[in-house]
Order: sequence, then C-alpha cells, then structure tokens
Amino acid sequence: MNAESDEDLFEAAIRYALRKGKLNARSDVDKSKSRLTAETFVIVAVDGKLIDRIPLKNLRREVELASAQSRNANRSNDALSAPRKPGLFSRLLSRLNPPAGENQVSLEIGGSDVDEESLYGRAVRALESDPAWSDGDLIWTATLDSETRPICLGLDGQQYKRGKPGPYWDGHKKIDPIWNCRCYMMPKQWRDRGGERIVVGDRGEKSLPLSVTGGEWILKNPRTARTIFGEDIGDRLLGRPTSGKPVQKIDFASAVSEWIDMFGARDGDTKSLAHLSTHVRLYEEAMNHYAKRDEKENLDAALAILEEIYSRCESSFRHYSKMISGRPAGWAENCYQYIPEMQTEGFLVKAFQQLAIIYDKQGRHSDAIAVCENVAQAGWSGDWAKRISRYQKKLAKKPR
Ligand SMILES: [Zn+2]
Repeated sequence: MNAESDEDLFEAAIRYALRKGKLNARSDVDKSKSRLTAETFVIVAVDGKLIDRIPLKNLRREVELASAQSRNANRSNDALSAPRKPGLFSRLLSRLNPPAGENQVSLEIGGSDVDEESLYGRAVRALESDPAWSDGDLIWTATLDSETRPICLGLDGQQYKRGKPGPYWDGHKKIDPIWNCRCYMMPKQWRDRGGERIVVGDRGEKSLPLSVTGGEWILKNPRTARTIFGEDIGDRLLGRPTSGKPVQKIDFASAVSEWIDMFGARDGDTKSLAHLSTHVRLYEEAMNHYAKRDEKENLDAALAILEEIYSRCESSFRHYSKMISGRPAGWAENCYQYIPEMQTEGFLVKAFQQLAIIYDKQGRHSDAIAVCENVAQAGWSGDWAKRISRYQKKLAKKPR
C-alpha cells in the first residue's frame, strides 16, 4: 500500500477496530455508511449503530504497519495476518522476502492472473516452482471471511492434480468460479505439514489449522453463515430458524448447490451477463423509440420493449425480495455488488423508471405502482417510495 486511498483507510480501520475489540466481525460493518471525516474514520454497523470513531493518526500508523508487514512478510505482528505458528508456507515465504504479505501471496498461488514481470509475480512463480507445488497434489483453499461465496466454500479442501483438469481447474491454472474469487491452490504437502490460514468469522477467530475445511468452519459461525448463504439457506444449513417457524435442516453440500442454483457460478454469471447485454441492447432500442414518442407507434414500441425487460427481470425480483426480507438497511447494497445484474443496475433502474413514467402518463397508476413496489422490494436503489406515493395520490383522485 503506497497511496493512502479510502480503501486502505477503510481496511486499516477494520483491522484496528478488530484488534482493539471494538468490532467482533467484519460482517457487522456497513461499508457504505462508514466514512472518513476531517479528523476520524467512523465505522458504522449494519444496524446503523456507531461501532468506533478512530483518530486519523492512529489509522495512518495502521496503514504504515500494514505496508511494513508487506515488505517483510515473516515479521508480521498483526494478529489478523499472522499464523499462530509458522507453517512450511510461511517459511518458504520468509526465504523469498516478497513485497507482499502471506495472505496476498497465498491468494495468487495457483490463481488465475499474476503479473509475471513484477517482483511479486516472480515470488509467486518461485513458490509455484517448489516441487511440492509442481509434482504433488493440490488442495483448493478458500479465503474464509464473511465475503466468501458459498461456491468457494464448497470447493475448499478439494484435492487436485497438476496436469489433470478438475472443477474450476484447467490442469495448470485456477478458473475463477465467480467474480472476484479469492481462493488459491495449496500443495497438499504444505498443508499436511501444518500451518494455519487467516480466518475472520463471527466467533472472532484469527486463524485456523488448514486441515479444517470451510464447510466445518461455517457451521461454527452462524452469523457468518447467514451472511454468506442468505437467511433462508443459512437457517436451514444451521438447522436453526431466525424466526419462530421451524426449518428443515439441510447438509452443507445441498446448501452450496441451492445457492449456486439461485445465484449461479461461472455459467450462471455468463448467463446473467448475456442477459445483461440483451438488456442493454433492448433498453437502447426502447429509448430510440421513446425519443420519437410523438408518433403513437413509437411510444407503443418503447413500452413493449420496456415491458419485455421488466418481465425478464421478474424472477430476479422474487429471489432478491426473499433474500433481503428482514435484513438491516444497507445489506442489499453490500451483497448486490457480487450479483452481475446488480453491478450494472444503473441502466436497469432507468428502464424500470421509464416504464413507470409511461404507465403514469397513460393513467395506468396501479401498474406504475406495481413496478415500483417490485423493484423497491428487491432492493434496487431509486426514487421508488416517492413515485409510489405520487401515483397513489393520482389513483385516489381518479373517478371509478
Ligand atoms: Zn473463490
């Protein structure tokens, strides 16, 4: 970390608050509400409560600490990035003296993209040329914290071979199963000789023996499990309902595959992305017609296309509504950054608003309200509440 970006400061604030015991788990923090003021960094919880207000000078020290650790991976004294006892992996790293901490390097080991020219890239390659890495079995290793996705948890602990393709593994390189995957491949030999990995769950653990799989870890961290899987699948995986209604317990593998069915792995991503480009094309087409809306057939064409986009998204509305019901404010924005459709929500929001506007102009106020309600319930940001009350007033005035 050279530049002191907001991201660095946010990360430093989280580490600082965890270390000082002000914060139990990263998943408690609402990143969108946490902010930098003139003198302090304010960390806000998902329930809107203030967690900590950290003086900037302490944070700067925290940032410096992190970059010092990066420069010298084997002399780390941050509880979050230091294993309790150095395993073979750490010892190899300390010999390499790479310009990054163990956690960062470990993420790149067997990862999909490493800049081979950089010092860091060369360090990663040096680790990968360890005979244990090139000859032996490899173990899929997920980074365990509240942002880990179920598909990665499900792969954690799976055994692979060099040269032999397997799930999300082309035989030589990992194929990210999902956007922004932080998993890495670890030689089985390294893992079997002990060592720990960095873990942040709601029990506040800092590291865990590598022999413990993600599937075992998640069952011991109920809050993190619900954050990762969502309340519905999370409750059933834990066999413990959040509300009074009893739940049917499911096993870890079923929880993972249910989640994949809902949100998709790489195939799902590709599908969603294909949908998205269709949506973009349709939206542009609709707006071309809408620009010439003085002619009725153009307005009709625009409306038909916007309705098509809306109906294509309807099943997503149901999924998302179910997922965010009962969640604290801001939860959706935190999670939706992982859902491809939501990443480009901007133009979809415009399409839905445009649809409501046309319905409104045509006097179809109930239809306009239904659109706004569905979109709002699914957590899509926008001026939905204002629109709903405006259309409701018009609806009330209308003669029946
Ligand atoms: Zn992953």
